[in-house]
Amino acid sequence: MPFRPRYTGLIDKYRDRLPVHDDTRVISLGEGNTPLIRLNNIPRATGKDVDIYVKYEGLNPTGSFKDRGMTMAVTKAVEEGSRAVICASTGNTSASAAAYAARAGITAFVLIPEGKIALGKLAQAMIHGAVVLQIRGNFDEGMQLVKDVGENTPVTIVNSINPFRLQGQKTAAFEIIEELERAPDYHCLPVGNAGNITAHWMGYSEYYEHGIVNQRPTMVGYQASGSAPFLRGEMVDNPETVATAIRIGHPQSWDKAWKVHEESGGWFDECSDAEILAAQKLLTEKEGIFCEPASATSLAGALRDIRSGKIPEGSSIVCTLTGHGLKDPDTAIKQCTEGVITVDARLEPVRAAIVGNLG
Ligand SMILES: *Cc1c(COP(=O)(O)O)cnc(C)c1O
Repeated sequence: MPFRPRYTGLIDKYRDRLPVHDDTRVISLGEGNTPLIRLNNIPRATGKDVDIYVKYEGLNPTGSFKDRGMTMAVTKAVEEGSRAVICASTGNTSASAAAYAARAGITAFVLIPEGKIALGKLAQAMIHGAVVLQIRGNFDEGMQLVKDVGENTPVTIVNSINPFRLQGQKTAAFEIIEELERAPDYHCLPVGNAGNITAHWMGYSEYYEHGIVNQRPTMVGYQASGSAPFLRGEMVDNPETVATAIRIGHPQSWDKAWKVHEESGGWFDECSDAEILAAQKLLTEKEGIFCEPASATSLAGALRDIRSGKIPEGSSIVCTLTGHGLKDPDTAIKQCTEGVITVDARLEPVRAAIVGNLG
């Protein structure tokens, strides 16, 4: 029978390109292998001849790309004998760390900013049994605390300063190349700590240096205006944005991301919260794809640069949709001004509501 082998996660698939041994016990939830979806309706509406693909990372096991890094970070932590992991998080890292720690049978400690984490992410960290420390401060303060506590406590830090995280995350670039049978012309990402844009560049560069492709994309990073240190050219102390996943003023991969900018000939730009939410809604309404607000920053910025011609016609563009829309139901519902229609449970009012909305 023509059955293909069961997909068992990105470490098994890319074993020869990752720092694991034959006898390494792999901690996996089947992450990676996410769909690369070609947009149909949105490119047409720009009036420009471009191919836009979205890499739907929200379909990873815990609903964000963080799982690609976490399978590596937790696998290596366990290999090194660690009994606990720790991270600071705007939400998705804590959700992922909690799940992979549960899978490995070790403890996860997560530091999250009080009141600034989307509901779904908090639910994940709690239900997987992580020790959740809600700090009266923002992500950047949490990150500093994690570094300080990590120095003399037997816990492994699984933020993206852990080099195994980026190793896992680079596999997204491998998948894109394998599907397109080339590298895209442009790759657009939302940027917070800038680990992911760095990891993608590592992946593209690895396939380029091994002669699997003869071209690398221009890397474009978009930030939320209230939280845009790469645009300001310096750290931002009180970042604010509705896109809580990228509410980061002190990016941990600052130097690495500037290097990506230089080597790829790319650029950084910023999007307002209104632009980010509009792009999120556009994707849901015109393409049926639900991502969280931070993720939509990649498309919001790309559309602006396509319209202005900065990204020229004839280009192929990949936008990473970093996390699933279900992570942040509150922001989604707030955006839906139409609300829901409440009617009596009788045929007449139901029929009237349908006929009145057939359009
Ligand atoms: C973590 C995260 C980001 C930012 O990624 P960095 O590697 O910190 O730049 C963007 N979007 C979502 C949904 C995230 O969870």
